[in-house]
Amino acid sequence: MKPQVSIVKCPSYDRQEVMAAARAAMDLLGGITVFIKPGSSVLVKPNLLIAKEPQYCITTHPEVVRAVVRMLKEINCRVYIGDGPTVFGSQAKGVEEVYAKTGMLEVCQQEEVELVKFDKARWRGKFPLTTWLDKCDYLVSLPKFKTHQMTTLSAGIKNLFGLVSDIYKKELHIRHFHISEFASILVDIYQEAHPALTIVDGVMAMEGDGPGSTGKPRRNDFLLAGSDCVAIDAILASVMGIAPQEVLTTKEGAIRGLGVADIGAISILGERLSDIITGDFKLPTTSVARKIPKPLVRLAKRMIKFYPCVEDDKCIRCATCVKACPNQAVQMRNKGIVFNYARCIRCFCCQEACPASAIRVKKSLLAKILGL
Ligand code: SF4
Ligand code: SF4
Repeated sequence: MKPQVSIVKCPSYDRQEVMAAARAAMDLLGGITVFIKPGSSVLVKPNLLIAKEPQYCITTHPEVVRAVVRMLKEINCRVYIGDGPTVFGSQAKGVEEVYAKTGMLEVCQQEEVELVKFDKARWRGKFPLTTWLDKCDYLVSLPKFKTHQMTTLSAGIKNLFGLVSDIYKKELHIRHFHISEFASILVDIYQEAHPALTIVDGVMAMEGDGPGSTGKPRRNDFLLAGSDCVAIDAILASVMGIAPQEVLTTKEGAIRGLGVADIGAISILGERLSDIITGDFKLPTTSVARKIPKPLVRLAKRMIKFYPCVEDDKCIRCATCVKACPNQAVQMRNKGIVFNYARCIRCFCCQEACPASAIRVKKSLLAKILGL
């Protein structure tokens, strides 16, 4: 049977509109009880990358979270909300600020559900995942639709990286710094966490150099729901104007038989895909490597590179990038931030974590000559 993904227009974050769109998205799939048994315990995981307010479009909007919480409470579920924000080691300490600024604290207080920290983890083969997965019967994932400097797309599969415990996110970046290996690890996490349901916040998405403050908000006006994250990400890749297989997590998920990346083999309910593809989606700077002419690919691997660099006038000297770097390639000196490119593994965690849009992507000389 074809995997089903529903797409529903949602023109704003008005509470009633989001609620109606979320209900419509679930009704198209047969109702929320197709995925979640009434009376069960559910971990809801939004994308709460950094401590920024909802209008920056970096994090899942609180009204989307509220709508899902209300639907779960209507079927008598016990709901827990949590995320392991950003990649720097002390996430358990900084998480209160993230929960407050992203609007999660307010939603949890108003809807009377528990906001939890991912401060304990259990090893699952290659990585430790939050024990809240063990405590709950189901995981409901609520990604924000965003571009990503390393994985091109951040949505269904990538959102689950936040389930990885504490500093082990850094370890995974260091041990699997090549993008194909990192994509493989993300798919391992998807396989292990197996969310029962994923509802994507695509009302205000992010394009350009996402997924942090350097990306640009983009209107897309939809919610998208389903249980097959490979299919969900394939649809979102199409919205971005690229083939699903160009997103390595989608490709890997399909190869492993975890989902369907062939758009023709997905049952799309509600809006037509052609109606939500509006064109001119700005991809992250690093994704231009896809344009490298085939004869140059081998040379390109050595000579066409992308590095982070700081814009001093924007930098607020907060040192978040220093803490976020998994390979000690960033230092704070008297003059400001300095990168050690010999140590840089080009994961762009520094850019992802920077709250001030102060880190941009620098291209190597050959990349510039080729006009990439
Ligand atoms: S400097 Fe930035 S891109 Fe380089 S390894 Fe550190 S976090 Fe990753
Ligand atoms: S570059 Fe960004 S994260 Fe790093 S110190 Fe400056 S403002 Fe903070």
